[in-house]
Amino acid sequence: MRFVSGVLLCFLPLWVVAADQPVAIALHGGAGTIERDRMSAEVEAEYRSFLDRAISDGYQQLKAGEEGLDVVVAIIQRMEDSPLFNAGKGSVYTWDGHHELDASIMHGEQLDAGAVAGVTTVRSPIALARAVMEQSPHVMLASRGAEQFARELGISEVSPAYFETERRKRALESYKARKQAGAEPHVDYKFGTVGVVVLDSEGNLIAGTSTGGMTGKRWGRIGDAPVIGAGTYADNQSCAVSATGHGEYFIRHTVARDICARMQFAGQNLQEAAETVIMDELVVAGGNGGIVAVDAGGEVSMVFNTPGMYRASVSGSGEKRIGIFGDEP
Ligand code: ASP
Repeated sequence: MRFVSGVLLCFLPLWVVAADQPVAIALHGGAGTIERDRMSAEVEAEYRSFLDRAISDGYQQLKAGEEGLDVVVAIIQRMEDSPLFNAGKGSVYTWDGHHELDASIMHGEQLDAGAVAGVTTVRSPIALARAVMEQSPHVMLASRGAEQFARELGISEVSPAYFETERRKRALESYKARKQAGAEPHVDYKFGTVGVVVLDSEGNLIAGTSTGGMTGKRWGRIGDAPVIGAGTYADNQSCAVSATGHGEYFIRHTVARDICARMQFAGQNLQEAAETVIMDELVVAGGNGGIVAVDAGGEVSMVFNTPGMYRASVSGSGEKRIGIFGDEP
């Protein structure tokens, strides 16, 4: 089959190949208690314009034939550099007032993957995850070992103070106050991870996820974002998925891989597979969060069981969607 399509491709002009191959992209900036009446018009406009620019740029890059891996990293880096999201600058604080960042990336052609966990001095954890995938024989490096690997490759390092923001510091203080008073911390303290999934002009599916984790997490805690199969998964045979939510549930339910496996082995389409895992399995288990996903035909799925999720997509047919709240299409 591969041989036959390879032979056919040889005889087709390049522009025909490019026009036939759909490209698609979806991104999230975290799921949680994101509600209209709790967000000012200015803040909402700021998020919407960020999401719009990021998704439009990513789509144009894919349309122009840029490699999906480059697009995933570039768009995630923009989100890591923005204090609007819980990744890179703007990451949440651990219980003892530090930042420990997790990220992973996966390429669906050969199932190559790279991940980093608990890094404290790397400006772009997604770039380091890509380096682990491409320049080491390993899939996951953690904390000091990951940081040393970054140093050896000359990947940009920053002082841990770079990640500090007033907004996240206040979130930690109020989280601690509620915990110490015996109250359940509000769900919002948990979410804000970023992720991007694409179908590129070569027909490859790629997924990436980057996060500061959960506010008030114990030091050394590793969430689902760097766990391949939980927070991130991509396989050209099925789909590419990036998740956001309460990581412990996403790890136990191998959410990203389960969605792809349902397509591959149970005959579900992307939307059915995503809804089964996020709206059925996770809801029964009590796990909050959501996913963005694309499949090989350029279908996009953005499913969440929380009141909102920052999200944007352009499907293979060119349909653009941007949303924050649960009542948007
Ligand atoms: N999934 C992330 C974690 O558990 C948190 C998030 O999505 O905001 O670390």
